[in-house]
Amino acid sequence: MAAPAVQVDCGLKPKEKIRPAEAVGNADKSAEPAPDARISSALGILPGGWQTFFEEIGEPRYRAVQAFESLHKHGLAHWNDALTMPESLRRLLSEKAPIKRMAPSNALTSDDGTVKLLFEPEDDAVIESVIIPTKYGPALCVSSQIGCPVGCLFCQTGQMGLLRSLTADEIVSQFYAAEKHLSSKIETVILMGMGEPMLNVPNVDTALNILTHKKGRALSAKRITVSTVGYPKRIASLAKLGWKYNLALSLHFTSIELRKKYIPVSVAHHLRDIFYSLEEYHARTKADITLEYILLDGINDTPHDARALAYLSRWGWDDRIGDPAFVSQFFKSGRYRSKPFSRESFKVNLIPFNPISPNAKTISRLAGDRLLCPAEEKMEEFFMQIRKYGARVTLRRPRGRDIGAACGMLGKAGKPERQRSAAKSAQT
Ligand code: SAH
Ligand code: SF4
Repeated sequence: MAAPAVQVDCGLKPKEKIRPAEAVGNADKSAEPAPDARISSALGILPGGWQTFFEEIGEPRYRAVQAFESLHKHGLAHWNDALTMPESLRRLLSEKAPIKRMAPSNALTSDDGTVKLLFEPEDDAVIESVIIPTKYGPALCVSSQIGCPVGCLFCQTGQMGLLRSLTADEIVSQFYAAEKHLSSKIETVILMGMGEPMLNVPNVDTALNILTHKKGRALSAKRITVSTVGYPKRIASLAKLGWKYNLALSLHFTSIELRKKYIPVSVAHHLRDIFYSLEEYHARTKADITLEYILLDGINDTPHDARALAYLSRWGWDDRIGDPAFVSQFFKSGRYRSKPFSRESFKVNLIPFNPISPNAKTISRLAGDRLLCPAEEKMEEFFMQIRKYGARVTLRRPRGRDIGAACGMLGKAGKPERQRSAAKSAQT
């Protein structure tokens, strides 16, 4: 009797997928493959998933590593080229476990060398990834969703609403397509493209497990950063999933009220809880934590903001952070000198605001606020103030603005009619 069929698909933890040998029973190795054993896209499967699949089709377990290595170490595009496997198995894999490597439908290159890749998967939506040249080699900014349901008022992607979350193979595939486009290796990956990674944890987790797997591309977890607006329970649970990736919190406001206004989801998640979850994550993983801070002229760039941001980065949360007198007194007292620069403190990354086209709902929520990037000197001044208070801080240079590839600008390219109608339905 054929072993019961298992649908192997992305998203499940490998442990959930592997069934112990006893459970499989005396599966007859020469039995016909179970008719339903199928993998929707081979690139999104970890070795554990392959093991289940091969068990299901009556093949030995070692095929799992062969399949995984073929895809992720040797970059195979067709099973036909998997010469370590017999021809009948290669044929079966072509049918049951297609390799869907996405190829960009367009690539835009900025004056500063930044490249935006556009992918159009079957359902006609557009996925965008950005390759950023840096002095340490290229970094890839990857999307985790098409659009984003969070709807931050300053973010172009947020204007679209959510079309859908990406599958693990689509996340992995962006990476391989970018390496292919450059004809060189990429060692730095940032999940700062379209979407909120914490709202797609199973697929993001699987994709990153695949890219860092020792039998595959073996990226270093230390060179991967996942950015989020902050979901404390999820952040705290990531360390338990074995994450070692760096995290970036899109903080952007030290005022709870302003944060609630501009990042709608923060109504439900207090900054105190978010900071505690980051501290817990850092304590367990020793990974880097960065506080991302967009600079919005006249909105979040006051001297109090600079002090409060420096305080948060070095001392973590304090319920008095919104009180200018407390923060200013603290820095006047010179107590801030007592804590030397340490790896325990969070880094601050200042991001000049990149222009967007707000939709009608955003315009009404802005209630007259104009979103502008502060003048260069003002940003420098803000940067210097934070540095003076002993925080580790960088002021990011906008990259790829001319092709709509800078932070928060993704989502305008590709199929605007479709994206506009998605935005509309997300608002109704
Ligand atoms: N959803 C996650 C991942 C996206 S990362 C997050 O928000 O963290 C995209 C980064 O660009 C975030 O730090 C985001 O806040 C920032 N960003 C969004 N809109 C921007 C804009 N108009 N100008 C500059 N940065 C922006
Ligand atoms: Fe979504 Fe991040 Fe943009 Fe906010 S900033 S809308 S969370 S992608």
